Amino acid sequence: MANQSPDIETEPESALETALRQLSAAAAHVDTDPGVIERLRHPTRVVEVSVPLERDDGNVEVFTGYRAQHDDVRGPYKGGLRYHPEVTAEECVGLSMWMTWKCAVMDLPFGGAKGGVVVNPKDLSRDEKERLTRRFAEEIRDTIGPKSDIPAPDMGTDAQTMAWFMDAYSMQEGETTPGVVTGKPPVIGGSYGREEAPGRSVAIVAREAIDYYDKNIEETTVAVQGFGSVGANAARALDDWGANVVAVSDVNGAAYDTTGLDTHAVPSHEEQPEAVMTYDAPNTLTNEEILELDVDVLVPAAIGNVITADNAGDVLADIVVEGANGPTTSTADAILEEMGVPVIPDILANAGGVTVSYFEWLQDINRRQWSRERVNEELESQMLSAWDDVRAEVEARDLSWRDAAYVVALGRVGAAKDARGLWP
Ligand code: NAD
Repeated sequence: MANQSPDIETEPESALETALRQLSAAAAHVDTDPGVIERLRHPTRVVEVSVPLERDDGNVEVFTGYRAQHDDVRGPYKGGLRYHPEVTAEECVGLSMWMTWKCAVMDLPFGGAKGGVVVNPKDLSRDEKERLTRRFAEEIRDTIGPKSDIPAPDMGTDAQTMAWFMDAYSMQEGETTPGVVTGKPPVIGGSYGREEAPGRSVAIVAREAIDYYDKNIEETTVAVQGFGSVGANAARALDDWGANVVAVSDVNGAAYDTTGLDTHAVPSHEEQPEAVMTYDAPNTLTNEEILELDVDVLVPAAIGNVITADNAGDVLADIVVEGANGPTTSTADAILEEMGVPVIPDILANAGGVTVSYFEWLQDINRRQWSRERVNEELESQMLSAWDDVRAEVEARDLSWRDAAYVVALGRVGAAKDARGLWP
C-alpha cells in the first residue's frame, strides 16, 4: 500500500523531509497520541559549535560542527559523526530521526542522534584530522557521554577518528571511558565484527527474504551495487551461504558472470579501492545496467538515490534489499510497490552496524570483550527477531516492508513516550 504519491518534481527529498514523511506515514497506522507524534517531529536539541584548527602551516581556520539529538525516550542518543563539506544542521536532524527509527526497529535501548563537522576530510593531513577531532570532542563534551549520547563513525570518519575522540574525552574526564563512542579499534574496547556488521545484516535479511518469498538460496541470483564495507561483506556472506552472486560493482562499473563470481577474489574497497574491474570476469556492466539486471535479489549498497522515477520501472529483480542508506527515492518506492517488487528497507537491512555498536557499548561498560563468534551469533538472533517483528506487521496490516518497519519503530517509541508521560 503506497503512502507516497509519485511526484518527480520533488525527488530526491532531503533526509529531514524523508524522515518527516515516514513519520506521518507510520502515524496513520499506529494508535499513538497526536501529541507524541508532534513531539517526534522536533529534535530535542541541535548543538552548533565552532572548531578552531591550527593547520600544518601555522594558520588557524575555524570549522562548524553539529550534534543533533532527536529522541532519547528509550535510552541514550546514538548516531554517527561525519566529516563532509555538505554537513548541515538540517541534514543532521533528518539523519538523527532515522537513527531513532533504526534503533527502535532493532529494539535497542537507544535513541537517535547524528553530527559532524563541515569539512572536506581529504583536505586535512592526518595530524590536522587528529587535532580537529580532539577539539571537536572537547567542544561537544557536555553534550555527549557514555550514558547520554554515544557517537560512532560515519562518512569521512573511521576507527582511528573514534580512538582520538575517545582519548580526548577520557583525558578531560580524568578516566578512560571507552563507552563514549563505538566503532573503535578492538585494542581499546572496539568490538570484533563491528566493521562487517552492516553488510552481514544485509545478507541475513536478504537470506530471510529469499526464504519468505519461497526461493531456494542455492538457486538464487544476486547483484550488488557498491563493493565497499556494506556491499562486499553482504556479497561474500550470501556467496558463502550458497547464493549465486552474478554481478558486483564499484564506481567504475560491474563485473558480471552468469555462472557466479568468486566474491572473495574481487577486491573490496578496503582491500584495493575501485578495483572491481581488475577481476577477470567474462562480462562487464555499467552501474545503470546492474540495477536493471534480471536477478532474484538486487542489493543497492553504494550511495543514496540510485533507484529513481527514471529507472524503477526497469528493475527486473524480484526483491530489493537496501544496503545503502536511502538508495530508493519515494517515487521509485511507489513504482516498485505497484510492480509488486518488495523493498526491504535500509533501517532494517543495514541496522547490523548500530546493533554491533550496542554490543560494543555493552562490552565497554562491562569491561569484557566478546569473541567474534559471539558477536555474530547475537547479531543473527537480534536480526531474526527484528525481521519477525516487521514481517508480522507486513502480514497483519498488508503493509510494505518499509511502512511495516516504521510502524514497529513508531509503536515502540510512542509506547515509551506514553508510559513515561510529558514532564512537567
Ligand atoms: P564504502 O566507501 O566502503 O564503499 C562504497 C562503495 O560504493 C565503493 O565500492 C564505491 O566504489 C562504490 N560507489 C561509490 N559511488 C558509486 C556510484 N556512484 N555508483 C556505484 N558505486 C559507487 O561505503 P560503505 O561504508 O560500504 O557505505 C555504503 C552505503 O551504506 C552508504 O549509503 C552508507 O551510508 C551506508 N551504510 C554504511 C554503514 C557502515 O557502517 N559502513 C552502515 C549503514 C549504512
